[in-house]
Amino acid sequence: MKIVVIGAGMGGMTAAARLSRGGHEVVVFEASDQVGGKCRTEWIGKVAFDTGPSLLTLPAVYRDFFQRTGKPMGLVCPIESVNPSFDYRFTDGSNVKFSNLSRKETLDAITSSFGAEGASQWDRIMKRAERMWDVSRVPFVESELKSPLSLIKRITFLRDMKIIAPWKTLRQHADEILKDERLRYIMDRYATYSGSDPRKAPAVLSTIAFVEESFGAWHVKGGLGNLTTTVHQRALDVGVTFHLNSPVASIQTTGSKATGVVLADGTIVEADAVIANADASLVYNTLITGHKRALKKARKNIANADVSVAGFSLLLGMRKDPQQVLNHHTILFPENYDAEFDAIFNDGLPVEKPTIYICAPQDEAMSKDENLEGWFVLVNAPTHGQFDWSNHEFSSKYANSIIDQIEARGISVRDRLESLTIRTPSDLEAAVRAPGGAIYGTSSNGARAAFMRAKNRSPIKGLYLVGGSAHPGGGLPLVGISGDLVTEAIGYEKNARH
Ligand SMILES: Cc1cc2nc3c(=O)[nH]c(=O)nc-3n(C[C@H](O)[C@H](O)[C@H](O)COP(=O)(O)OP(=O)(O)OC[C@H]3O[C@@H](n4cnc5c(N)ncnc54)[C@H](O)[C@@H]3O)c2cc1C
Repeated sequence: MKIVVIGAGMGGMTAAARLSRGGHEVVVFEASDQVGGKCRTEWIGKVAFDTGPSLLTLPAVYRDFFQRTGKPMGLVCPIESVNPSFDYRFTDGSNVKFSNLSRKETLDAITSSFGAEGASQWDRIMKRAERMWDVSRVPFVESELKSPLSLIKRITFLRDMKIIAPWKTLRQHADEILKDERLRYIMDRYATYSGSDPRKAPAVLSTIAFVEESFGAWHVKGGLGNLTTTVHQRALDVGVTFHLNSPVASIQTTGSKATGVVLADGTIVEADAVIANADASLVYNTLITGHKRALKKARKNIANADVSVAGFSLLLGMRKDPQQVLNHHTILFPENYDAEFDAIFNDGLPVEKPTIYICAPQDEAMSKDENLEGWFVLVNAPTHGQFDWSNHEFSSKYANSIIDQIEARGISVRDRLESLTIRTPSDLEAAVRAPGGAIYGTSSNGARAAFMRAKNRSPIKGLYLVGGSAHPGGGLPLVGISGDLVTEAIGYEKNARH
């Protein structure tokens, strides 16, 4: 079969490589001048920054990808455990460091920071999250999600629902178990891993905390962009053809079937199947027109879903200070976390006192000067559209206020600062065609969010959707799984290796 892939994000590339290995002829058209979409490491001067993902969880997804397409990941893309996985700091001056891959050590840390009661409550919520993961991973994550009816038909449906408690939000769930507000803040934050509001996102998102703890928090040596480079190289090795600077203008259909794409320069490329790694809202509202009846529901779902959060980031080139070495991931929680969710989800405004994430990898492969290091600072933000991020004066003031807030927490920045680059949601939109600069496509707000997300198999025959705005959602592990799901949905050529 000849397969065209629109977009060289991680979802598009993993699907392309697996299908090519499975005997198909696969061609990828990428609008920008580079592969990897949001997952990239950028050099600014002598320092490198992970400007998209800076944390790899559930690495088994990529281990499996590399294993199935050739040499194993350990030989081509070494990853390193990040310990502590997170250094959480609160405005009252307290802090707790979560240990990578060890519940016991994390519970010890919680005991010494917040007391034994808090540790036992965290253990309880993790045990429940483990049960939720056990019953949800296959039907909700590792399979195509077809319809609520297909789940109801499962023999274990009632038992599973009791465990998952879809009627409960993450916040309600955490409120019931965690009595210390600081632990509730930590749990709330996992909603933001899918760009969501913990007051609307389902309780099952607590599984993200469990997965991070059990399967670990990882760094890719040299930056997460090396994962992109290695996946790209693997795709080339198994025969995928890439065309950069080649935006697809539309998807061609004949009757109710996708039959190829039309590039922006007018070139028509015929195909037996089309895989769209572009955002689902662009696929259904821009790339494919007509098909009113077939696409009515998909378009309605996209229109009704809450968009995920976007991000405002600072790339700080810093002189090293041996007295002040930050952990790989530091989280500075604000006093009032709800004010952040209100600003983004209710008011569409930048957050005055946001949660500040600082990624400060101690990775010599990310600096060409032993005296310099790069800090990637990220705060959640409304999308470009909810708020006008094209105002440079505002961005610069906002960046300064974030630096002030970091310094107010006892971390010196300005006296070590060598370079500052600002990235707004509109920059991300321009770079990778992410509508409004949303990080994860649509959010998981609401019990039905998973069902409203675009399906991997479109109602248009021969058209498939892969990547963060399609099932099972955003983040590197899930987009890798979407690559698997689309591969399985299309299938392999007879006698091909896969
Ligand atoms: C700031 C930030 C921080 C993040 N942090 C993490 C993290 O720590 N851990 C984690 O796991 N995930 C994180 N993520 C999310 C993760 O990066 C994404 O979920 C994932 O990389 C998305 O992959 P994708 O397959 O959806 O493709 P995308 O990255 O969305 O790429 C889609 C590609 O399609 C191309 N395209 C679009 N339209 C067309 C067209 N018409 N023609 C041709 N090409 C087109 C685009 O140019 C782009 O290259 C983060 C993202 C951001 C932005």
